Amino acid sequence: MRRTLRDVKRIALLGATGSIGRQALEIIAGHPELELVAAASGSQPVDGLAPLTQVGGDLTELLERAQPDVVLNAVVGFAGLPATLWALESGVDLALANKESLVAAGELALAAQERGGALLLPVDSEHSASFQCLEGRSPASVDSLVLTASGGPFRGRSADDLADVKPEEALAHPTWNMGPKITVDSATLANKGLELIEAHFLFGLPYDRLEVLVHPTSIVHALVRFRDGGALAHLGYPDMRVPISYALTYPERAATPVPSLDLVGLTLEFHAPDLEAFPLLALATEAGERGGTAPCVFNAANEVAVEAFLEERISFADIAEIVAASLESLDLSPARDVEELTASDEQARAYAQGALSRA
Ligand code: NAD
Ligand code: MG
Repeated sequence: MRRTLRDVKRIALLGATGSIGRQALEIIAGHPELELVAAASGSQPVDGLAPLTQVGGDLTELLERAQPDVVLNAVVGFAGLPATLWALESGVDLALANKESLVAAGELALAAQERGGALLLPVDSEHSASFQCLEGRSPASVDSLVLTASGGPFRGRSADDLADVKPEEALAHPTWNMGPKITVDSATLANKGLELIEAHFLFGLPYDRLEVLVHPTSIVHALVRFRDGGALAHLGYPDMRVPISYALTYPERAATPVPSLDLVGLTLEFHAPDLEAFPLLALATEAGERGGTAPCVFNAANEVAVEAFLEERISFADIAEIVAASLESLDLSPARDVEELTASDEQARAYAQGALSRA
């Protein structure tokens, strides 16, 4: 790996104009040992952000030119896949916010990491928290991993009550301020479903040892139950600058502007998720257990449906209907390479597009 004499980490930031991207810029600006060498976005201008920039197109071209020490992949959606695979295959450490690429291509990504030898540092808050609680311990010492969910803006509401909620209601997240796609995913709990699959691949735990609990204040980000009866949890105010900084300064754990937790008067509340009102969580677990390209299909159909929901072309309840229909109708056998995976993604998108007009 290329490192300069001052031991500066050279960072390529993909998705620099997004919610994670902007917070990453703040973290990088605050640390002289972090140097931004490349920045990219999907369509918004990134001129002047870094010596090398790119808008749209194949982001691996930018990565080839930049030869960074760390790639922070904060692109949204399956579009982040080439960059994820490039970093893992090239042995360049990957700070991963783009969960969709790991969900869709879990086996291929882990095989690329095995060949490349790169570190895979999760930026998703629950997975950064889990990574820290697990600290490289073997899956055998773990009873289960609990991912917490805020429950989103519709926590406590019934399926009937949710059928016709509008995008602006779904976009009003109670604890996190994020891009539109993940905010809708948080309202449907598809986000927590994607995160279960993400955790399965990151930590090598089977689905029956992954739990989701609703925890409205988002103070506990994850909790690991060990086989000896002990449990370790990661707590902090919900602020993505903490996991972004952790991944970029790993293993240093540098200071951030985020205040330390005030424990006096703090109470913690947890309850089981309502799988009837939020069917996408159960569908994601099924897709994960099913394996093959089921997670890829789940993700692709969800991306298409969320976009259509944001454009008010389908209802909130239709999102889960379209994902369920896609999983029922499509071939879910494993992809042997990235071409087969991309074909599966495209097929699922085409199917979901067709299902939109029937919704
Ligand atoms: P966002 O919509 O705010 O930003 C997305 C970024 O990706 C933008 O810079 C956009 O230009 C870029 N982009 C989109 N399509 C692209 C393409 N085809 N090629 C290149 N760049 C493209 O999204 P976000 O909320 O910052 O989320 C980014 C990722 O991080 C998502 O995978 C999300 O699930 C994950 N994540 C976000 C948060 C959060 O707090 N925002 C928390 C956990 C995980
Ligand atoms: Mg998360």
